[in-house]
Amino acid sequence: MAIPVANPKIQNYALKDDIAAAVAQVFESGAFILGPNVSGLEEEVPIVCGSKYGVAVNSGTDAIVVALAANGIGPGDEVITTPFTFVATTEAILIVGAKPVFADINLDDFNLDPDKVEEKITSKTKAILPVHLYGQCAKVDRFKAIAEKHNLKLIYDGAQAIGAKNNGVGMGEFGDASTLSFYPTKNLGGCGDGGMVLVNDEQVAAMAKSLRFHGMDATYSYQYVGYCSRLDEIQAAVLRVKLKKISDWNEARRANAAYYIEQLNSLPVKLPVSAPENYHIYHQFTLRFAKRDELKAKLAERGVGSAVFYPSPLHLQKAYLNLGYKPGDFPEAEKAALEVLSLPVYPELTAAERNQVASAVAESIKELA
Ligand SMILES: *Cc1c(COP(=O)(O)O)cnc(C)c1O
Repeated sequence: MAIPVANPKIQNYALKDDIAAAVAQVFESGAFILGPNVSGLEEEVPIVCGSKYGVAVNSGTDAIVVALAANGIGPGDEVITTPFTFVATTEAILIVGAKPVFADINLDDFNLDPDKVEEKITSKTKAILPVHLYGQCAKVDRFKAIAEKHNLKLIYDGAQAIGAKNNGVGMGEFGDASTLSFYPTKNLGGCGDGGMVLVNDEQVAAMAKSLRFHGMDATYSYQYVGYCSRLDEIQAAVLRVKLKKISDWNEARRANAAYYIEQLNSLPVKLPVSAPENYHIYHQFTLRFAKRDELKAKLAERGVGSAVFYPSPLHLQKAYLNLGYKPGDFPEAEKAALEVLSLPVYPELTAAERNQVASAVAESIKELA
């Protein structure tokens, strides 16, 4: 039987009765918007992530939008970010009216390169927006130092990194805000869309809460132009059931990753590297291989699904060409886009399945090397 690269269905099926009971309770209560499940989730997720506050919103994309706006980022501001990420990171900067400025990545962790960021700082730069890609924290100490030196806001896109740590510190403690996505295939996924802004400053948290609800401060009193971006009670109820498992699931992903590394480390393929100070939660297990497309095809023949996150860096996407970049501007990001391949690493993989994945990768690479 083919092994898919992600499989949120098995996870939800295992919790089907608890999820159904939680949804039924919302239905009975009649409180569908900003009720006890949203406020409960806003207390529980920050405990996992290490932030003081959590503000639930209706997607991981809106979490970035609200995090930027709550930190005062808007028209005329430049935000330095990575071109090698999901499109939402860049899109959110444009949605608040600011300008994305790309800097290249490091191939060791696929994250924004702090050295490249410093070169891009101008008098208009207001913030840095690194992504903790694939579930590994970016170089948070370096970014903190750069942000302090140049008086910039630091906002992390942690959509793929719920529960990740650096030097034992939770990802929600870093910067002026961090964001999460509860898209169904994320490490904590709902049965629909959802996201959260994590912050440590009470005023920023209050502004984020106001912004997600049309900029309202008291009933029908509006201090800011906001958004309609609330998380539903039903989604929050589902997420609270699943949140109880997140630490176990992250551990299971790490165990699967450790197994692949042990099985594949003598092969001519670049395996993902977790920096010793990082607690990597392996949202993706992403290797690099020059004949990536051939490898993907051979894995498919052997019943193993895989995926390319992401096949093109954002500076070369049609929608973003007017930012003025060209091929060759970010060589590391462009190389990553040609070579990355993610394997199934989800927590429900059985021992037999992960063995099948590792064997398929080993056999395919031997044929291609
Ligand atoms: C999933 C994801 C998002 C967007 O989250 P949605 O919930 O789909 O809006 C943003 N950034 C990254 C890096 C992501 O992986």
